[in-house]
Amino acid sequence: MDDQGALPPHVLIFPLPFQGPVNSTLKLAELLSLSGLHITFLLTDFIHTRLLRHTNINSRLETYPGFRLESISDGLPEDHPRSSDLFMELFDSMKAVTKPLLKEYILTSRRPVTCIIADGILGFTCDVANEIGIPIFYCRTMSACCLWVSFCLPKLIEAGELPFKGDDLDTPITSVPGMEGFLRRRDLPTFCRSGDLNDPSIQLFKTEIQELPRAHGLILNTMEHLEGPVLSHIRVHCPNLYTIGPVHAQLKSKLGGMTTPSSTSSSNGLWKEDRSCITWLDSQPSKSVIYISFGSLAVITNDQRMEFWHGVVNSGTRFLWVIRPDSIAGGDPGSNIPVELSLATEERGYIVGWAPQEEVLAHAAIGGFLTHSGWNSTLESLTEGVPMICWPYFLDQHVNSRFVGEVWKLGLDMKDQCVRDVVEKMVKDLMEVRKGDFIRVADEMGKLAKKSMGKGGLSYYNLDRLIKDIALINV
Ligand code: UDP
Repeated sequence: MDDQGALPPHVLIFPLPFQGPVNSTLKLAELLSLSGLHITFLLTDFIHTRLLRHTNINSRLETYPGFRLESISDGLPEDHPRSSDLFMELFDSMKAVTKPLLKEYILTSRRPVTCIIADGILGFTCDVANEIGIPIFYCRTMSACCLWVSFCLPKLIEAGELPFKGDDLDTPITSVPGMEGFLRRRDLPTFCRSGDLNDPSIQLFKTEIQELPRAHGLILNTMEHLEGPVLSHIRVHCPNLYTIGPVHAQLKSKLGGMTTPSSTSSSNGLWKEDRSCITWLDSQPSKSVIYISFGSLAVITNDQRMEFWHGVVNSGTRFLWVIRPDSIAGGDPGSNIPVELSLATEERGYIVGWAPQEEVLAHAAIGGFLTHSGWNSTLESLTEGVPMICWPYFLDQHVNSRFVGEVWKLGLDMKDQCVRDVVEKMVKDLMEVRKGDFIRVADEMGKLAKKSMGKGGLSYYNLDRLIKDIALINV
């Protein structure tokens, strides 16, 4: 690429500033860098500071020639919580403050920027690219099935299926092509339950998603064999589609043959990883442990925590549970834990504040995952052949969990229920009663995932095509 002394193409990558998107987009950046492209990975100051505090990111990225990690302001005051429920504040602030900063950054970059890869929900990045006159690729870090549902929001409104209040949630939804027959109101992104078409999230998704075709191409962290039917609908609107997932596994496989520090430590976490859980897992029997984690944003009430805790303990199953320090509404009350829960947890459970999740899911002791169905967690689980119990929290997770339970048959969908008896029954079903069936399907899916990112696989091919297309822009 650089054989005539010309500099390699320089890609500026700008992810949505939340843990899940930062995690997978950084892995995409590493993959592009490994192919010889120059990369600037631009974060908001807030995320940048947290990444530096909790990871060895700088020394890890040092091993990639031409890789720069930089940051700009999101315009919010330093002490703003930037929690998921305040997303619209963050979004509006970025549109007003970050947009001109991004333009300025690109125009004054010492190395000219060849193209931008930005999260497709940040539509202002496309305006910046157009104003400067460089191509932009959108990447969306959610599932294609949720993207397609979001694309169809205008159809749902036209058909009178939206808005609805949070009632009659089992009513079928019929105006999402390809999902007739199994999609219900309760499976739509949670903001659809507000009963108000002026809900800012409905407005945001309705408008921003329709803008996706403006980009030069759309990069999705998914696989053709997983979401093929839905992808064919998306292709009608965005024909230049790069399905390159699961990105984390592509990176792992590419680094497999290398001996750089990257191959031994790949945390992009915004919390400090507690690796002691791996030692604990090492002493547990094969496929005996259920891993419980609700990702980086979900906040549960203390009552919900107790229902999960009783349910899992009553199931008799061993468990590893991630309880983030900020994940209990109103804070962890600490005391008043029933003695039977403390004893059972000491005997067959382990609780950490943040785990090395990819490594956990790949561990031989893990037999199931009680998850909030975030797209990264779903992909990480299915790549390792781990069946799931889904307790979606918000946004795309409700669509994902329906696909896990009803379409892919990779587990059980527990959405909208948080009762100890249901938790107990589902954990027993997944880990004992129907264990064989679920493991068989999940194993098969894991094999397909590995095949798709190996040489000759479609995700491998599409990543290669993306790299070649970026390289051509420079010519
Ligand atoms: N994660 C992790 N350790 C944990 C919990 C989560 O490393 O203890 C990672 C997980 O591997 C995934 C990301 O955080 O890559 C969560 O992203 P996801 O899309 O699943 O959910 P979100 O946090 O966006 O709701």
